[in-house]
Amino acid sequence: MSSNYYDHLHHLRRTIPAVSASEAAELAAQGAVMLDVREPEETELGTVPDAVLVPLALVEHDVQADIPHTDTPIVVYCAHGIRSLFGAETLRNLGYTNVVSLEGGFETWRHAGLPWQPPQQLTAVQTERYARHLRIPEIGIAGQQRLLQSSVLMIGAGGLGSPASFYLAAAGVGTIGIIDDDVVDLSNLQRQILHRTTDIGTPKVESARQTISSLNPDVEVQVYQQRLTEANIREIFAGYDLVVDGSDSFETRYIVNDTCVELGIPQVHGSIFRFDGQVTTFDPRRAESPCYRCLFPSPPPPELAPNCAVAGVLGVLPGVIGTIQATEAIKFLLGIGESLVGRLLMYDALEMTFRTLKIRRDDACPTCGR
Ligand SMILES: [Zn+2]
Repeated sequence: MSSNYYDHLHHLRRTIPAVSASEAAELAAQGAVMLDVREPEETELGTVPDAVLVPLALVEHDVQADIPHTDTPIVVYCAHGIRSLFGAETLRNLGYTNVVSLEGGFETWRHAGLPWQPPQQLTAVQTERYARHLRIPEIGIAGQQRLLQSSVLMIGAGGLGSPASFYLAAAGVGTIGIIDDDVVDLSNLQRQILHRTTDIGTPKVESARQTISSLNPDVEVQVYQQRLTEANIREIFAGYDLVVDGSDSFETRYIVNDTCVELGIPQVHGSIFRFDGQVTTFDPRRAESPCYRCLFPSPPPPELAPNCAVAGVLGVLPGVIGTIQATEAIKFLLGIGESLVGRLLMYDALEMTFRTLKIRRDDACPTCGR
């Protein structure tokens, strides 16, 4: 290490307030966020309860999603209290005003006899089932645990909802909610892969539950056999980490959007038309994120926007778009990669092209504008 490094460290030691383990515990009890900036292979061995986990190198990019308010009191910690100083410096540069570092790190916390969460475990069966995830450094045991503890609400068990919830279930997303008031029809089976010929006439949510449960018994499936309305939507949405919208009506998209903005729940939006599909992600907790109304302030007249039942759709198209929605959802739950926030991904199956359009938040938007 160069002398510059030590000079800088010395400077940080003088300028970043340090707290002892017992002071940190007191701050946490008063509502401070404990931010763990260690690497996943370290946090797998134990963490402070309810800590937010963001490895040091990702703090600058990711912390805003986990800690949206810059006046939130934050105690940064690492293993021994060095990296946390650099993490605290990054937070200050991002505008966070109430940041301290835990002197001596997680080691002192444990030695002080303060509560901590023991190593995260998977069962032997889960270790086998998710073996290919566990080999990816960005996922590992901690990431798989995170998926198992996550909850996603799927709007619709149709073309998009089928592949999206099927892959979320395969990946081990622990709770999947599915809302749909429809029953399986023969004409659905050209694309809606959750349902079988023997399911015709069965409520789609029931058929979906059976298919998902037989794929992965780790998943708890919550079904809502009803139409989303202003009256029931808040109660259904509350508590979900993420919403995946696979609805095919403008009316539903608008109330999904407005409720996600109101409750601060991110959503992955998808839509399909004949050979064309679109996907984007809206995250109302991020200041730069547009919402659905920023893109489409008002619904088009029905004759200009026929749904799939009227216009038709290539059967495999929702497979592509719903699978991209599932990919976005899994990345979001794991806190990895670049999301589609601020970008609209457009797929043309006939031309076999993907295009990305930059989309911006509209300050005059009736839902999320200032
Ligand atoms: Zn908006």
